[in-house]
Amino acid sequence: MTIILDGKKLRDKIFEKLKSRVDSMTTKPSLAVILAGEDPSSQIYVNNKKKCAEKLGINSIVINYPENVSETELLEKIETLNNDKNVTAILVQLPLPNHINKFKIIDAISPQKDVDGLTPYNSGKLFSGEEPYVYPCTPRGILLLLDEYGIELEGKHAVVIGRSNLVGKPIAQMLLKRNATVTTCHSKTKNLADITKTADILISAVGKKIVGENMLKNNCVVIDVGIFRDENGKISGDVDFDKVSQTASYISPVPGGVGPMTIASLMLNTVELVK
Ligand code: NAP
Repeated sequence: MTIILDGKKLRDKIFEKLKSRVDSMTTKPSLAVILAGEDPSSQIYVNNKKKCAEKLGINSIVINYPENVSETELLEKIETLNNDKNVTAILVQLPLPNHINKFKIIDAISPQKDVDGLTPYNSGKLFSGEEPYVYPCTPRGILLLLDEYGIELEGKHAVVIGRSNLVGKPIAQMLLKRNATVTTCHSKTKNLADITKTADILISAVGKKIVGENMLKNNCVVIDVGIFRDENGKISGDVDFDKVSQTASYISPVPGGVGPMTIASLMLNTVELVK
């Protein structure tokens, strides 16, 4: 029988513990989120982050900029936040408007306040096998979910579809660190199904319906990171859930799987950055 990896349940459990941890902290965590532009999905994500932070007693400010904000304005704001003792964590909501160089913006965040773990310092630490200040939120959330259900990683073949800096690359490194054998696939990968059929653990982070039941071996663990609206406007993941859940041993649903775990990790990272 397929077991559903319940991200909401684990998020709630993490929040309960975090709430009492924050209550007992003398220096309260304080998260600053920069949102540039009017992307509706980004606005929903940012509001959700703010609501969760406030529920846990974490201070939260959202700094909104119009679509035509300049790179200089954003860099100056980050510099101010880096030097502000009352701000312990900084997040720049992605994607940024096209005219902004996102690498330049992320590079400007102080690594000690880099709550997404995306700065060159933190990703460099991650890739060299050292400890970053924090691990990127979505990959961290995925590992928390796998651990919660006691899913063994060592020696397993993990196939990751997607190679973004946000999800694909860091989760591959984190799985390697946990002694999985990792294959990363992307849009130029040939014969994708031949590779995914050898996976003990399949993680899909693409943003389109790509994983069908004919791509998996029996009892594979399936983690669906993708979130997008299908042609009917319904929230969907990368995986054909109904069919794949017939053969998978564990599967994360969309919504209710990785999404809540990303928020849980963001809150964990925010609290842990208070040193
Ligand atoms: P991204 O930067 O757009 O990366 C997508 C990756 O998918 C790229 O590496 C791309 O390959 C690969 N790809 C595209 N078409 C493919 C194909 N036909 N076969 C194999 N690989 C293919 O996206 P992202 O930021 O990693 O996000 C991926 C998805 O996860 C999105 O739906 C996003 O909304 C979702 N997401 C969810 C959460 C959450 O909390 N649940 C968090 C972050 C992201 P190339 O590199 O060759 O272009």
